Amino acid sequence: MSTRGVIVRTPAKVNLQLAVGPLGSDGFHEVTTVFQAISLFDDVSIKFAKENSGTTLTLSGATSNGVPVDDENLAIRAAKLMAEKFELTTDLAIHLKKEIPVAGGMAGGSADAAGVIVAMDSLFEVGLSRDEMEAIAAQLGSDVPFMISGGTAIGQGHGDQLTAALSRGTYHWVLALSSVGLSTPAVYGECDRMRAELEIAPPQVSDVLMQSLLAADADAVGRALTNDLQNAACSLRPALSLVLEVGRDYGALGAIVSGSGPTVAFLVADEDSGLDLAVALTASGVVGSVARAHGPVHGAKVISN
Ligand code: ATP
Repeated sequence: MSTRGVIVRTPAKVNLQLAVGPLGSDGFHEVTTVFQAISLFDDVSIKFAKENSGTTLTLSGATSNGVPVDDENLAIRAAKLMAEKFELTTDLAIHLKKEIPVAGGMAGGSADAAGVIVAMDSLFEVGLSRDEMEAIAAQLGSDVPFMISGGTAIGQGHGDQLTAALSRGTYHWVLALSSVGLSTPAVYGECDRMRAELEIAPPQVSDVLMQSLLAADADAVGRALTNDLQNAACSLRPALSLVLEVGRDYGALGAIVSGSGPTVAFLVADEDSGLDLAVALTASGVVGSVARAHGPVHGAKVISN
């Protein structure tokens, strides 16, 4: 058992495709999504704490403002779930160093939960396989299992039934961030409202996208990016349509709202084009702040123990 504690680095994601089926009787939508893990990371540290001190959570980092430190935080819920399953102590000090935007459609909370599962597996030497960790992750939220494995994967069901996707090459992203998040349930609600009169087909993975990823053809990937929640996110936050347009005008290969938004992800040809686009977006005045990242990257991984 490590006495010093464990640090796990855990990535953000973008959805290269997000196909949303009709609202099911369980209140959830069946989705088909293609996830890519990208190089914006939170670091999750876990140390043993004094006996009977319980689980405490502290925060630092550029995006930690306003993140809950109680049981609402997915990191604490993950720690409690792991403790309950494997009869481990909950006397733990968790620290999150956050760089992933909050409520930005980039699965920051899910990433932290995945980080805690991987960290506790290491700290207590539980010896879980990746599949076992993903099964535990699925109990915490639909995006959590993907953050364990990272890379590129197809998610079905609620997004939690994963199949690894064959993808070659590295993809460069410019992310237009908003200082105010969008609520995922609100965006799904708006999507249902906008599609009320339409017949919605079951969601299907895009063959064109999968072939483009296999061919490492960034141009074709850019053209194949789709998100069924994009119109709803733009309806709730009309400024996003302008952000998408500005990025396309400045030569992005593809532009998409990430997940439920409001982050907008632009695919670019290489690092230099990314820098040019980041400068242009900032100068345009329509974007609060920008970040650059590449993918695919690994999932939650121990970087120090
Ligand atoms: P997704 O893409 O999975 O819909 P998101 O990136 O839009 O997620 P999160 O960053 O996970 O959203 O945050 C959504 C809400 O969850 C926040 O407003 C916050 O109150 C809560 N939350 C719980 N745990 C965390 C965490 N560890 N980090 C950030 N937010 C968290």
